[in-house]
Amino acid sequence: MKKLTRSQFLKLLLGSTALTTLPLISCQKQPEVKTNNNQNQSANEEVDIIIIGAGMSGISAGFDLIQKGLKVLILEGRDRIGGRVWTDNRWNIPLELGAGWIQESEGNPLTKLAQDFQVSTIPFDFDDSTFYYADGSEMSEEDQEDYDQLFEELFEEIETLREQKEKDDQDDISLQKAIDEILADEDLEPQDQEVLNYLLNSTIEHEYASDINDLSLYYWDSDQGFDGEDLICDQGYKQIIQPLAKNLNIKLNQIVEKVDYTNNIQVTTNQGIFNAKYGIITLPLGVLKSGKVEFSPPLPDRKQEAIKNLGMGVLNRVYLKFSEVFWDDTQTLEYISKNKGEWCEWVNFDTIIKQPILLGFNAGDFGTKIEEYSDQEIIKSAMEVLRTIYEDIPDPLDSIITRWHQDEFSYGSYSYVKVGATPEDYDNLSQAIDNKLFFAGEATSKEYPATVHGAFLSGKRVAKEIIANI
Ligand SMILES: Cc1cc2nc3c(=O)[nH]c(=O)nc-3n(C[C@H](O)[C@H](O)[C@H](O)COP(=O)(O)OP(=O)(O)OC[C@H]3O[C@@H](n4cnc5c(N)ncnc54)[C@H](O)[C@@H]3O)c2cc1C
Repeated sequence: MKKLTRSQFLKLLLGSTALTTLPLISCQKQPEVKTNNNQNQSANEEVDIIIIGAGMSGISAGFDLIQKGLKVLILEGRDRIGGRVWTDNRWNIPLELGAGWIQESEGNPLTKLAQDFQVSTIPFDFDDSTFYYADGSEMSEEDQEDYDQLFEELFEEIETLREQKEKDDQDDISLQKAIDEILADEDLEPQDQEVLNYLLNSTIEHEYASDINDLSLYYWDSDQGFDGEDLICDQGYKQIIQPLAKNLNIKLNQIVEKVDYTNNIQVTTNQGIFNAKYGIITLPLGVLKSGKVEFSPPLPDRKQEAIKNLGMGVLNRVYLKFSEVFWDDTQTLEYISKNKGEWCEWVNFDTIIKQPILLGFNAGDFGTKIEEYSDQEIIKSAMEVLRTIYEDIPDPLDSIITRWHQDEFSYGSYSYVKVGATPEDYDNLSQAIDNKLFFAGEATSKEYPATVHGAFLSGKRVAKEIIANI
C-alpha cells in the first residue's frame, strides 16, 4: 500500500509549493561546542541579547546575531544543546530521540546546511514497506492498491466537505467528525475500518503528533512543504546543530523561571539573574502552556490566546535492539492494529545503519497513554505486536524509550492546529512585544511548524527583526 506523505496530500489537494534555498555559511569540520556550564552572568558581562533555549531556533538566531557583532547569551535548561534535536549515543551508534528526518530535502534549507557542514545524509523511502493485518498475515499488493484508491477518494471527499462548510460559514469541526459525516451511511467491515484507522494514524496522526479527534478540519494541513526525498543524518542530526553553535556563549542547566520585560529584559533562572536589552523566547509551546515560566507583565491577550488555542502533540519513539534481524528487508514495517494507533509503524535500522534495531512510533492518544506504562510494560506491548507478525522471536537485548509528553523542557513533541485554532495563532505567537521581547521556535512558524527547518527559519526571522531594530 502506498502511504501518502504530508507533501503528497498537499500536492493531491492543494498543489505543491517550493522555497528557495537560503545562502548559508560554509564550515568544513565538526567542532566541539564550548558551553559555560553553571556560571552566572558576571558583573561586567554585558550582553545585548539573551536567548532562552538552545534548540535549533535559538542557535540559528544566535548564529546570525553574532555575525553582526552583537553580544549574545543563550540560557538553556537542559545539560545539552539541541532541544528536540537529540542524538543519543548510548549504544555507540547515533539514534535520534527527537527529530529524525530532513523532510522533503529539495528546497529544505537544512539540506544546504548539511552539505555546507559536510554532514552525511542518506535517503529514506517511507513507501518501501511491508504491510501486516492485525492477525499478522501479510497484505497482498492487490489489497494495497484497493485501499490506496479508497483512501484517496476519502480525501477528495474531505476536501469537498471542507470547501462546502467554509462556503456555508460553518464552525470548524475535527477531522474525525468530518470523516464520521462522510462515512455516516457506510457500513464498514471490521477489517476495512482497521485499515482506515491505520491509514489515518500513520499518515496524519504520526505526522501531526495528534489524534484526528483534535485536529482542525479547516487548518490541520495548512503548513507548507518542499519536494523530494526525506533524508536521515546517519551520523546524527546533532551534527547540523553543532557547527552553528560553535562560537556561541551558551550556559547550560539554567532553568528559566521568570522573564521580566517591564524595562530592559531581566531573566531569572534557578541559578541567578541575567540582564540584556533584548530577549528572544524559544520556549516550546508545551512549556509556554504549562505556565512554568512567569512573564512580567503577563503576555498580551493575543499571545496567551494563541498559546491556549494551538495544540502540542505527542510522538514517541521506542528502539528495540535484537541479537539478529528476523524481520522483512523493507525500510518500514506497517501494522494494521485492532485498536487505532497502536504500534502501526516500525522503522528498520538494518536498512539504514546495518543494525538489528527496530524503531516503533506511537502518536496522539496512544502515544501519550503509554508514557504512563513502565518500560517493561511498553516492551511487552510492542513484543505482542511483533510476535503476532513473526511468532517465535527472542526478547530484545535492550531498549530506548522516549516520553516527550512528560519532558519538562518540552511537554510534548511539536505543535499542531487544534479545533478552534487558526494558522494566525502561529503569527500571533511570533510577534515581538515592544520591539524588545522577540519570539522564535517551531510554534511561531505558520509555514513550517513542527519541523527543524521551521525552527531554523524562525531563528533567522527573529535575528533579522532585532537587527532591523538596532
Ligand atoms: C519525536 C520527535 C520527532 C520529530 N521528527 C521530526 C522530523 O523528522 N523532522 C523535523 O523537521 N522535525 C521533527 N520534529 C520536530 C523538531 O524536532 C522541532 O520542531 C524542532 O527541533 C524545534 O526546535 P525549537 O528550537 O523550536 O525548540 P526546542 O528544540 O525544543 O528548543 C527549545 C529549548 O528551550 C529549552 N527550554 C525549555 N524550557 C526551558 C526553561 N524553562 N529554561 C531554559 N531553557 C528551556 C529546551 O530544553 C530546548 O533546548 C520531531 C520532534 C520530536 C519530539
